[in-house]
Amino acid sequence: MKVFTVAVMPGDGIGTEVTPPAVELVKEAARQQGVELRFQHIDAGAQYYADTGESFPEDHYEEAVKADAIFLSAMGHPDIRYPDGTEIGPQHDLRKRLNLYAGVRPCRTLPGLPLPLVDERSKSLDFVIVRESTEGLFAFSRGHELDDDEYAHNLMRISKTTSKKLYDFSFNLARRRAEQGRGHNLVTHIDKANVLSSQHVARQWFYEAAERHSDVTANHQYVDFAALDMVRRPWVFDVMPTENQYGDILSDIAAGLMGGMGMAPSGEIGDTHAVFQPCHGSAPDIMGQGKANPTAMILSGVMMLEYLADKNNSPELLNAAKKLESSVEAAYATGSLLPYELGGTSGLHDISELVAKKLSL
Ligand code: ATP
Ligand code: MG
Repeated sequence: MKVFTVAVMPGDGIGTEVTPPAVELVKEAARQQGVELRFQHIDAGAQYYADTGESFPEDHYEEAVKADAIFLSAMGHPDIRYPDGTEIGPQHDLRKRLNLYAGVRPCRTLPGLPLPLVDERSKSLDFVIVRESTEGLFAFSRGHELDDDEYAHNLMRISKTTSKKLYDFSFNLARRRAEQGRGHNLVTHIDKANVLSSQHVARQWFYEAAERHSDVTANHQYVDFAALDMVRRPWVFDVMPTENQYGDILSDIAAGLMGGMGMAPSGEIGDTHAVFQPCHGSAPDIMGQGKANPTAMILSGVMMLEYLADKNNSPELLNAAKKLESSVEAAYATGSLLPYELGGTSGLHDISELVAKKLSL
């Protein structure tokens, strides 16, 4: 039996609630295909900081990066902060230290849910935001911002090296999706090239990459107009690489299109490592009430299975990913699930149990 290791970091708040069922489902999907996934629990996050004075000890980091992939849930708590007032986020340390430049945030709508857009085409959305996750406006989010009492500033810095990787990744993704019959074989650069000079240069780097991938169509859109189109006609999009903060904001619109934060998975991909986690935070407002939607965490697990399949050339894990994803779809297709976020009463247990049932069929 093939064996892979996964470092699992449940984190804080609802992270600790959605992790166990998602781990069980991912493990079971792999097991059905004859692959063993060994999950290794790693402590980190705001509660761990409150308990021990450290948010992510170095030996925990080293343990995590040894694994074939990292499965991370939500981290942070509004009331537990570092002395400088910033939120505790070991996930940011991982992004930076492992150079996880590509924040892959798919927007796929599931059947059987009341979605915010009335147009029929919004019921089968399938596009991907690729958020640059190591640079841009968030790269200097701490410590550099205060000039003096009269000014505050942050710096948007974008490197050619990272941009080149981000764009190559995006074109490769679009091509692959097209081969699978998904998307429009299209990459749309989302920027603000008309106002910010760094964005103007980024767009030039984007079109240099487009020349290396001339089999894929390339175009661009301003971020504000893209926000409008994501609400008005999101089905025109396919792969959308963008700056860090723009990607952060647009991802929440994408989550809204899917029905809420609890539906939105993500993968943070670098050259050597990858972290899979839901887009949502630790949501202390709903913690301990059974209301957390585990779908985003489960779908992040699907993305992790696809990544492991790809990296290790394992058709078994690709089958596991497909089976788990179709189990989530089948669970929602029954029409019997309505998550709390959408005004219903389906929570952690109802959703994970129905997915588990579909997986065992
Ligand atoms: P962050 O600061 O990392 O964004 P957050 O605590 O603000 O974290 P968000 O993920 O932004 O949390 O979520 C905002 C709100 O959406 C939460 O307070 C919660 O009510 C709801 N929410 C988020 N995730 C889920 C989920 N998995 N299931 C149900 N509701 C959720
Ligand atoms: Mg938030």
